[in-house]
Amino acid sequence: MARARARRSFTIAEAILRWIRIEAIRRRRRREENCSDRSIDLLEAVLDRGMLGHRIHLDRINTRANLMHKHIITSQECPRCQASIEDRSHLFFHCPAAAAIWSRIAITPNVGSFLDIWSSPLPPNLPASIWNSVALTILWKIWDARNAKVFRAIDQSPATTLSNIITDFTLWSHRFKKAEMRVHADLWRDYLSLCNQQNSS
Ligand SMILES: [Zn+2]
Repeated sequence: MARARARRSFTIAEAILRWIRIEAIRRRRRREENCSDRSIDLLEAVLDRGMLGHRIHLDRINTRANLMHKHIITSQECPRCQASIEDRSHLFFHCPAAAAIWSRIAITPNVGSFLDIWSSPLPPNLPASIWNSVALTILWKIWDARNAKVFRAIDQSPATTLSNIITDFTLWSHRFKKAEMRVHADLWRDYLSLCNQQNSS
């Protein structure tokens, strides 16, 4: 079991690195072809998201716990709830601000090991084929919401964060070339939108 998990971790890490390299090459080619600003924006978002996913995977993001470990700051207290150490798991899953997002979409992520998130149980009738993309978008926007608090003193509501997730995922889904994947993206977008509407009422 342990060996199987180690093999799987390696595969995902390698896939992320390969994906980042391919997107970097594509971005350079698109720039050379003078494609539209919107395409550049989308590719920049892809690259940024890939880099964030890779850094989260390696626990190299600047959580308070990591910054304190580097002796950059003297407190590792979570800036959003002030009730716990802000490490990777707290920031993305256990902080009440993050937990509210997962609760809102009725998904309980597997977080025993960070990589277990990719095998989280999903709501019925939602395709698992693009769960990795959905999960990355959720992590990305939870990170954005956390940074809004840290750098701009903004307390972002769960409804706003989920709205940002839906907007970003819709943009992201334009990348899918297969019709089947676009249908799956529509199902996820509609589900997330419904969750936000139901919880806002
Ligand atoms: Zn917290």
